[in-house]
Amino acid sequence: MSYNMVEFLAHAIAMEEEAAERYLELADMMEAHNNLEVQKLFRDMNRYSILHRDSIQERAGSLELPKLKSWQYRWVAPTEVGGEEGFDYNLDPYQALEYARANEARARDFYAIVAKSTEDEEIKKLATDFAAEEQEHTDALDEQLSNTIRKQN
Ligand code: ZN
Repeated sequence: MSYNMVEFLAHAIAMEEEAAERYLELADMMEAHNNLEVQKLFRDMNRYSILHRDSIQERAGSLELPKLKSWQYRWVAPTEVGGEEGFDYNLDPYQALEYARANEARARDFYAIVAKSTEDEEIKKLATDFAAEEQEHTDALDEQLSNTIRKQN
């Protein structure tokens, strides 16, 4: 997987933007479940995603960024929950956290692969930083998962 800087930045911005939107939806869903703790986590994650997107956008400056295909950055729904539509269903807090966690881990893996495979030192540094950040998000979700009861079906 070889990216030049504009492709890399475009990818990172699209991923953060997608994450911000999904976190907002998940936060609203948790509000409907009256789960304030998980709601707060998702609202925080939404805010971090927006901040991160903005700082990457600033870095990109006036560079013309390529358009990406949605499969390159869209969050993936767990197969047992639903298809492409994603959010027509109602996730309980545990499922919502698992869903977010899977997508954070996916983002982390993406950045880690880029960091490993690029020859460009600047991309390598950014990708390494972003991978570490996604690892923190994954850890935060793991921690919340360990405090959340899985519903019996
Ligand atoms: Zn993240």
